Amino acid sequence: MNVRYIRGDNFWESNTNLLDSGTWKHISSLKNQALKCIMKSIGNGETTSLWFDPWLQEGRIIELLHYLTPQHTDTTTWTVSRIIQNSQWNIILPCLNPLISSITNISVSGQKDQWIWLHTGDGDFSFSSAWNQVRTSYDKFELYNVVWFPNSNPRMSCCMLRSLCNRLATRDRLFKFGITSIEVCALCNSYKETRDHLFFQCQYSAYIWKLCKLKLQMKITDVKDLKTEALEIQQKFKKKDNTYILARLALNATVWHIWQERNKRIFHDQKLHKIMVFRRIYEDINILLRTCNWKVGNSDILSNWSYVKL
Ligand SMILES: [Zn+2]
Repeated sequence: MNVRYIRGDNFWESNTNLLDSGTWKHISSLKNQALKCIMKSIGNGETTSLWFDPWLQEGRIIELLHYLTPQHTDTTTWTVSRIIQNSQWNIILPCLNPLISSITNISVSGQKDQWIWLHTGDGDFSFSSAWNQVRTSYDKFELYNVVWFPNSNPRMSCCMLRSLCNRLATRDRLFKFGITSIEVCALCNSYKETRDHLFFQCQYSAYIWKLCKLKLQMKITDVKDLKTEALEIQQKFKKKDNTYILARLALNATVWHIWQERNKRIFHDQKLHKIMVFRRIYEDINILLRTCNWKVGNSDILSNWSYVKL
């Protein structure tokens, strides 16, 4: 990187050229953002550029003394060690006088200089804190742990997330966009196919979800819309054990298999009986649960789930 792109300059001052790699151009474009996140902790000052590296709280000297150019004082290549003597500050450059108090506030340890990551308590870099700096944050998605959890299946989770956000291509939405003229539910051929009808107000899907709830030892009240059912699962299965995973898997797998069944009916003209769809849900869950290392939870629910008489 030094030889090919920086070419003897300081990293923070180097420019990109037209023929440089895209990666390098992208890294360079993030410099200003990076300068807000890192700082050099001065030990002996030997590896820190006096003018260009960020080692003062106030910012880089080249920016603080922007009316000066280091070339005029012939100190472009100076490191901070040039103004340290016997582990004490020895500010021999008169142009640094405006910054004397900021500089002398820093204690010189005599150790190697070190980069500090400013967004963690201990100064060590962490991907999560970096991600928090670059991302646009939104409100927490209240049902996040119903979608993503240990042993979840990515395809099922994505389908679940899309359905909770009402982003699946259900017929009511396709009709609204003028893509289809058919709005009727592919499972019952009676009602308008909306997200909430498909999961689980439709007789077909309500039956499957009721079977799952029965196995999870939940009250078999009238099945409501998907979001209410997801909230109920989240509330009832809070304790982090096997039943926590089982209940979420049941909901995710049910949504996934009902969506698959609906698609097969529309695109492949194939139909499965609702009992067979439940059978597939049951088998999928057993496979996904097999690799679970969590401590066993309510054994009553677990044994009830594993004993399926069809
Ligand atoms: Zn229906």
